[in-house]
Amino acid sequence: MRAKVGSASDAAHVPIRTCVGCRRRQPRTTLLRVVVRGGRVEFDPEARAPGRGAWLCSDAACLEQALRKEARPFRRALRAPDADVDAARLRASFGEARRDIRNAQAGPSDGPPGSANATRGAAKGGGQRRDDAVVRE
Ligand SMILES: [Zn+2]
Repeated sequence: MRAKVGSASDAAHVPIRTCVGCRRRQPRTTLLRVVVRGGRVEFDPEARAPGRGAWLCSDAACLEQALRKEARPFRRALRAPDADVDAARLRASFGEARRDIRNAQAGPSDGPPGSANATRGAAKGGGQRRDDAVVRE
């Protein structure tokens, strides 16, 4: 048994998790959490469910990898050899779970890619608002 990781001093640091599909190590904020709930494997988009979790890139290829060999990668990562893995159901909910995590990353604004820089600059400056210029048009 491993003790709970993540102390208060680590709060600012994004923990790294390994994708069960491609085995790449990624910041956990970019990964989807998968848990066993009621004996079946499900996505945990908010990453709040208790218990052991497995992690998956938001890439359908990684889901397929994790589902190979009767989902052995999932079962191993979750230490749940008897868990019920409904591949069709997971595929169906994958899109939704992925959207959730994208939203969490992107924040409330869903603008074009360039807008991220503008937002960051505005937040840093704090004074003048760019909106003022835009309103005139
Ligand atoms: Zn992956």
